Amino acid sequence: MTAHVNLLGLDADGLARRCADWGQKPFRARQLMRWLHQRGEADFDAMTDLAKSFREVLRERAIVAAPKVLRDHVSSDGTRKWLLDVGGGNAVETVFIPETDRGTLCVSTQAGCAVNCLFCSTGKQGFSRNLEAHEIVAQLWHANHALGAYAREGGVAGDRIVSNVVFMGMGEPLQNYASTLAALRIMLDDNAYGLSRRRVTVSTSGVVPMIDRLREDCPVALAISLHAPNDALRDELVPLNRKYPLRELLAACRKYLERAPRDFVTFEYVMLDGVNDSDRHAVELLDLVRDVPCKFNLIPFNPFPGSGLRKSAPERIEAFARRLSEAGIVTTVRRTRGDDIDAACGQLAGEVRDRTRLRQRMVGSRAGVATGQRERSSVALVEHR
Ligand code: SAH
Ligand code: SF4
Repeated sequence: MTAHVNLLGLDADGLARRCADWGQKPFRARQLMRWLHQRGEADFDAMTDLAKSFREVLRERAIVAAPKVLRDHVSSDGTRKWLLDVGGGNAVETVFIPETDRGTLCVSTQAGCAVNCLFCSTGKQGFSRNLEAHEIVAQLWHANHALGAYAREGGVAGDRIVSNVVFMGMGEPLQNYASTLAALRIMLDDNAYGLSRRRVTVSTSGVVPMIDRLREDCPVALAISLHAPNDALRDELVPLNRKYPLRELLAACRKYLERAPRDFVTFEYVMLDGVNDSDRHAVELLDLVRDVPCKFNLIPFNPFPGSGLRKSAPERIEAFARRLSEAGIVTTVRRTRGDDIDAACGQLAGEVRDRTRLRQRMVGSRAGVATGQRERSSVALVEHR
């Protein structure tokens, strides 16, 4: 028996190919895509404009399924956080952050992460597995259901409760390239979510060859987790830097901008007390990014037990931001959203840890596995000009 294909992970080409295999014309694939993503329909029998015989095939060969929700937390400021069961004892987080002019969904691409950045709790968790494209798209599909987008007249296309998507949850999207690419294509497709390229952001620790591929395959807004102004320090903070040093990374950024929907890249920079946050670092940083049109997003470090690192003082972050903005670079400081569910996030984190196979193999116990997610997931910004 052939396995059921989860239709949520098929982009336009993939869906057209499947439909062709099932003897259907290309326009059927587009119809199906609209049912799945614009209407959020999971029941083939409800897809009334598809031929009965086709619906029969779909029932036999396909499914439409999203991961089970393990936890659903709503903050008083409207930030909402779901913990999703992706099987095998693994769970990932999805966060929705409403703002006056937009609604941003932060999605995960892997259970755990292999990059192992020094300051990241997901990294400390180790790598479990890549998410399938359907598991990435299902985060958006699920959010639209949970937020009531599909219930409204006209479905999600007209409503845009989720207007922006950031690939800033768990995992390194560019180390799960095929699934990330398919998910991006579905998010941008007018027959699916129809999001603008400018409103979908991939954040990467710097997988240079895949930045190049993304530029060719599906250029969306790009955020780079920079975190250090020189190779010596970045080698320590972001171990991937040893493979793809700053010179190559910045060259890839410049090239990316030739095709990007925005005329700048966003550099994320986690503010670590006494590690990367001095005026000297800021000056070095300005020199480093001289030739790259960019904005900076400073992220106050979100501490977790056992990290051995501290968050920079607010005044230090202010001073650092001022250095950059006085040199003409738009600089924002990430503000935490969903404060009142952050404590709960720590509790959820414990569960994630307990449910992660890799964790079970690790010696010792660290609390607060996913606490690093909370500020990372929070994309509301305070600007310094
Ligand atoms: N793997 C990708 C995307 C997910 S991480 C990447 O690294 O870019 C999203 C952002 O959160 C990254 O900039 C990451 O460096 C940052 N981050 C990770 N751990 C953090 C922590 N404990 N406190 C603050 N930001 C953190
Ligand atoms: Fe992975 Fe990003 Fe965390 Fe680094 S910061 S370990 S790349 S999720």
